[in-house]
Amino acid sequence: MRKLLFIILLITVNVFSQNEDEKQLKKIYDASLTKGQSYEWLKYLSNQIGGRLSGSLNAEKAVKYTKKQLDSLGLDRVWLQPVMVPKWVRGTAEFAYIETAPGVTTNVPICALGGSVATPSGGLKANVIEVKSLDELAAIGPEKIEGKIVFFNRPMQADLINTFQAYGGCVDQRSSGAREAAKFGAAGVIVRSMNLRLDDFPHTGGTNYGDLQLDQRIPAAAISTNGAELLSSLLTLNPDLQFYFKQTCRQFDDVLSYNVIGEIKGSEFPDEVLVVGGHLDSWDLGDGSHDDGAGCVQSMEVLRLIKETGYQPKRTIRVVLFMNEENGLRGGRKYAAEAKAKGERHVFALESDSGGFTPRGFSFDCSDENFARIEGWKSLFEPYLIHLFEQGGSGADIGPLKDDQIVLAGLRPDSQRYFDYHHAENDTFDAINKRELELGAATMASLIYLVDKYGTLK
Ligand SMILES: [Zn+2]
Repeated sequence: MRKLLFIILLITVNVFSQNEDEKQLKKIYDASLTKGQSYEWLKYLSNQIGGRLSGSLNAEKAVKYTKKQLDSLGLDRVWLQPVMVPKWVRGTAEFAYIETAPGVTTNVPICALGGSVATPSGGLKANVIEVKSLDELAAIGPEKIEGKIVFFNRPMQADLINTFQAYGGCVDQRSSGAREAAKFGAAGVIVRSMNLRLDDFPHTGGTNYGDLQLDQRIPAAAISTNGAELLSSLLTLNPDLQFYFKQTCRQFDDVLSYNVIGEIKGSEFPDEVLVVGGHLDSWDLGDGSHDDGAGCVQSMEVLRLIKETGYQPKRTIRVVLFMNEENGLRGGRKYAAEAKAKGERHVFALESDSGGFTPRGFSFDCSDENFARIEGWKSLFEPYLIHLFEQGGSGADIGPLKDDQIVLAGLRPDSQRYFDYHHAENDTFDAINKRELELGAATMASLIYLVDKYGTLK
């Protein structure tokens, strides 16, 4: 009898807290969709500040603006964490054409890859060799590559439903193509933009020369997908055509910048820290609205929603706007190093860096036990059409926090349109849908609420 009473009590407590959680999630979504701040913040960040490449004046403006906004939320503490970041400057607009016969030219849209060296001041003109992969490049060997421009033209794989997988499957051309081609004596590198649709926007992104000396580095640029298709078909008609491009980009010494941080102190377990964040820097071509202005304002909104709905967190909840994800990850590394040096105990970190599109769920990098616990909350998210709970990656900036106890998570929005904008000039505020952005913020706040309330397993 006593056992039965205990079971009834346990069920009652469970049902009660389930109802309480349902109510709290409803409050969070209501507040985000009816009096949210995320869209207004992003409007300012995108339209009044714009692209925020590390080390730029705009990046510093973004630090000041977001700190001021966090200051206005009545958090327990807001501060800047200094971090040295690389400074790379694009210079004047790039220019390129395909020359099929002397004087017969067609202009094509290109942009320098981040970190690339400039071409000679008069530009670079050479024959082109097209390859689909780094392996194909290595198989061809130096004699057919020397003095030429290597054209990496492997498209993103269209039959993968998750476009991040397709991106992961071809980004090595951009990140390592110039380094590998330089080893075979190439004069320059042109990479097909990481974009699934055919359009005229070249997409930048970091390229890494590894330990190549400065005088061995060759200029690298991205070409739009339409440009890549054209170059490839003209090459089949005339393998001797020439490609010309000119870029004036330059690397400067590192400069001082900041991670922007704010927190609400936990009422019961203040030493357990939950982080929610995105990266404040962006590439310079667009406004960085999806990558990753969206993730920053959603993360700020999580703390605002917690306060707005009157929830008192048990654990310390911290928003971190990381600097320099795109071309260095210095902010993420600095944050983790300082947390470790201070002996801070981070139990959970959530990053939003996959665009401001309709949220589908989360990906978790954690123990099976913690994953099973979190999966148990799945039904609470069903009314909001959030269904994806999977084990996998999380986010680049929170990666350095990884240890065997922390739960790392990434918001997973619908990924079908992300690479239409990623690192390109059209990643602007008009590509953001207000409700999708707000649903993402509410979804993140709901998860933070549940993790705060129930904790994680050690
Ligand atoms: Zn990003």
